[in-house]
Amino acid sequence: MVNPLLYHKQGWIEVICGCMFSGKTEELIRRVRTALIAKQKVQLFNSSIDTRYGINSITSHNQNKVAALCVKNSSEILPLVEKNTHVVAIDEINFFDKGIVDVCEELARRGKRVIVAGLDTDYRAEPFEVTAALLAKAEFVTKNLAVCTKCGNPASFTQRLSKDKKRIVVGTTDAYQARCRRCFRKPRATKAK
Ligand code: ADP
Ligand code: MG
Ligand code: ZN
Repeated sequence: MVNPLLYHKQGWIEVICGCMFSGKTEELIRRVRTALIAKQKVQLFNSSIDTRYGINSITSHNQNKVAALCVKNSSEILPLVEKNTHVVAIDEINFFDKGIVDVCEELARRGKRVIVAGLDTDYRAEPFEVTAALLAKAEFVTKNLAVCTKCGNPASFTQRLSKDKKRIVVGTTDAYQARCRRCFRKPRATKAK
């Protein structure tokens, strides 16, 4: 039988994943706003690689915007998280180094609600290791889909429009499109990362 005396407030990890334009950032902002309405202390982080909409804020493709701390790598996060923070939200998790997985686990261990959003796959439809690991370790996972720009079916693939072979190329509608399984064309493999 459950012993109510053993109850303790505990943290957990929520992952919001999906392709580009699937509303990950919008969903992250929605959850943050709800926590703020409940008067909880929220700290938001974004990668300094994501320069699309200016630093120190998180902005969705429909221009919904909230303030965020911009960090270069995962090791900067723990020292910035304050003791009385209830919720730690991190956008573009796929831009971070492997250390972000341990950072999220440590925050959850400290009793924080950790909400992360990011791409589950890259421009070749290969999983981002960091997102994949967090999906496996999270308590709650949400996969969003976008609308295929070619046919209108549900889209879970990110089609890069340029021939760039780097894994991370920051861009928006000029550089990427959401595509369904049938309309996605996988670019050829390359050694370049
Ligand atoms: P993500 O963070 O997943 O890239 P955002 O939350 O920033 O997505 O933006 C989602 C918004 O993008 C949608 O609400 C919509 O206004 C816009 N959008 C643009 N292209 C598409 C598309 N092909 N499918 C769905 N939404 C799109
Ligand atoms: Mg986003
Ligand atoms: Zn399609």
